[in-house]
Amino acid sequence: MKPSFADIRIPIEPDNPAVRREESLCIKCGQCRQVCERDIAVGRLYALKSTNDTAICVHCGQCANVCPVDSIKEVYEYGEVRQAIEDPEKIVIFSTSPSVRVGHGEEFGYPAGSFVEGKMVAALRSLGADYVLDTNFAANLTIMEEASELVERVTKKTKPLPQFTSCCPAWVKFAETFYPEILPHISSAKSPIGMQGPTIKTYFAQKNNLDTSKIVNVAVTPCTAKKFEIQRGEMNISSVSNGAEDMRDMDYVITTRELARWLREEGRDLRDMPESPYDSLMGAASGAGVIFGNTGGVMEAAARTAYYLITGENPPEDYLNLAPVRGMDGIREAEVVIGDVPLRLAVIHGLEHARQFIKRMADGGKNYDFVEVMTCPGGCIGGGGQPKTEVPMTD
Ligand code: SF4
Repeated sequence: MKPSFADIRIPIEPDNPAVRREESLCIKCGQCRQVCERDIAVGRLYALKSTNDTAICVHCGQCANVCPVDSIKEVYEYGEVRQAIEDPEKIVIFSTSPSVRVGHGEEFGYPAGSFVEGKMVAALRSLGADYVLDTNFAANLTIMEEASELVERVTKKTKPLPQFTSCCPAWVKFAETFYPEILPHISSAKSPIGMQGPTIKTYFAQKNNLDTSKIVNVAVTPCTAKKFEIQRGEMNISSVSNGAEDMRDMDYVITTRELARWLREEGRDLRDMPESPYDSLMGAASGAGVIFGNTGGVMEAAARTAYYLITGENPPEDYLNLAPVRGMDGIREAEVVIGDVPLRLAVIHGLEHARQFIKRMADGGKNYDFVEVMTCPGGCIGGGGQPKTEVPMTD
């Protein structure tokens, strides 16, 4: 049957890997539909012939984030993680994304944006983590890959420009579904979680003498779309490295809200936790990883790394003048010159803005070299699995 938006709500397929609706709780307020149409654009593009009139969800979870009665929720995975912890054979390794450490506190009464990294790490240890690592480590790997590819595209013209970022799985699915012609433009670099998983199951396991087959990798993220991303067929490169049949790189994803729910079920309060550091080896990273959580962060980190790759030196403090791409406007632009290489940059958050931007490019507007796209308002800091605080978005 043809899906229709005549109904006030968005439809959610029963096998959606990221979000579920509990029918009995729905009050038909229409907020899920509003955010899906207004910010994410999927609501508008939905019935295109290219999708065979099929409901396409990009799994961003913004519907869950705005649902006032918790009718729509992320698909909970913390039960499976708890079972893995109870199994003495398993080695459970948590990796936390940049936005969780500034989102998690709000669930326990801290002011929004409070930095609770040490308490968050301690909370994960109290739940039985064998190791707690920082996904910022892999964010550094992603940015090195992404910047190297950008420099190659710009200087050697190996692939088409502009290069779009690839670290937001909801954006990647949006492009695959509605704009397949753009795929050669999307960076081939995996997302930070896509790199963290196999790096743990190869490099980290070897350095710590761990039996890889016993490792259970858990990503703690602001993002519901990561639940979809880790299930993609290609996210099993650990199988190749370890000669295993089907070893997933990352086994589970739990959101910031899910972690808080789990802690409350266990009768634990973040405020009572001591401070604890990450484990070493993959628990340290540069500032480039930290800014990944904000809209514009990936672009800024990539531009600074490209500067280093082109000139062999770190950029002076204010040389790149990236101020125009900071802030909350839906589409921001800047131009910088690195050595004698000019770079035209754009930063987009909200897929409705991406839709407008792609249309503008197709209509013969300006050319660009590097474009960052994040699905959620404000970037991952406003992710679908974060505490329910509205992040403002301006047109
Ligand atoms: Fe996930 Fe971040 Fe993309 Fe939102 S912007 S869907 S939180 S990766």
